[in-house]
Amino acid sequence: MGLVGTPVTVVMMRGVPPQLAGAGPAGNSVTRQVGGTLGMALAGLILSGAYRARMPTPNCRAPDSGSPPPRRNRPARPPKPPGPPPARCVCPSWRPRPSARSTGRPGADTTIGTSEQREHTMTGTTARSVLVTGGNRGIGLAIARRFVTAGDRVTVTYRGEEPPAGENVLAVRCDVTDGEQVDQAFKEAEAAHGEVSVLVANAGFTQDRLLLRMTEDDFTSVVDTNLTGAFRVARRAVRGMLRAGHGRIVLISSTAALHGAPGQTNYAAAKAGLVGFARALTQELGARDITCNVVAPGLTETDMSRALTPEQRRELLRTTPAGRLGRPEEVADAVAFLAGAGYVRGAVIPVDGGAGLGH
Ligand code: NDP
Repeated sequence: MGLVGTPVTVVMMRGVPPQLAGAGPAGNSVTRQVGGTLGMALAGLILSGAYRARMPTPNCRAPDSGSPPPRRNRPARPPKPPGPPPARCVCPSWRPRPSARSTGRPGADTTIGTSEQREHTMTGTTARSVLVTGGNRGIGLAIARRFVTAGDRVTVTYRGEEPPAGENVLAVRCDVTDGEQVDQAFKEAEAAHGEVSVLVANAGFTQDRLLLRMTEDDFTSVVDTNLTGAFRVARRAVRGMLRAGHGRIVLISSTAALHGAPGQTNYAAAKAGLVGFARALTQELGARDITCNVVAPGLTETDMSRALTPEQRRELLRTTPAGRLGRPEEVADAVAFLAGAGYVRGAVIPVDGGAGLGH
């Protein structure tokens, strides 16, 4: 690649060895931080290279030459053989994602995000098969929409009502407390979209009671959905991820896992269990390109938080520096990040308006 038009910025920094200095991204702009005499020599080399690259070549019209460059008679290129047709989702509602560059929509800047996200955005051929449990409403639906917008093929599970009409997802009925239904949901997702490479274990519910009034069923049913349900879907997903050598698992926990909350011994225990689960699984998976992370939302504007009494709500807001409830889309942002990150593992990302000050 020529260096024509390459701006070279040399920043002198004493005491910074050149090998530690950051090389700029490949492209038209190179920024280097160099120190000492060696740095000057390097800078000279870069500049002289850039200068040479600015000299006119037989195919490059010099600014003051006044005559067009000589034309080469190239032989015509043979036509490309037709390639295989692009992979298509069998989900009837799935449509290919419009390319960000072709739509020119705001936010289509492909330089933002992790390298994996950039690749995903730019190629248009890497749509992932995503499964979100409890994706018919609330946080799960916001997460599903986020992946659909990114061009992925999304399956959502629901237990009661289907997701709203018009969502570009495959909806599969599945109660995560039933292993057979979990298996069936994965089979349907795989048949429609291919092996699940991103799993979001989001399904959850609360059954709040002070401990002395909490029945064993109150406790075990909450654990069965929030914790054992996540175990069921993660175990089923990891099978395919191991075959594919790639996978992203995100578990939706809660700030209750990290701080506890009165009346939520069952829920806090289940959600805290997800943190241990994710970290143990991270160690089991080792160097494989399969990650498991946790997102811990604070009070978020959904049906679940609407069930709180005004006093509970006031108290929670009092301890939230942001002074407002979270939005489901803000949780979806963190999930999308983790789904595109390969080196973040066993992490817990709070999305709680500062309620836990990072914990
Ligand atoms: P909602 O009550 O709005 O939605 C809960 C979702 O979980 C629904 O899709 C529901 O399906 C599904 N679900 C519940 N039980 C089961 C089950 N046994 N099998 C399959 N699906 C089930 O809750 P949110 O959207 O607010 O919560 C989503 C996740 O975020 C939960 O894990 C919750 O614990 C967590 N969270 C929420 C917070 C909040 O303030 N909203 C705060 C912190 C964490 P269906 O509609 O069919 O019943």
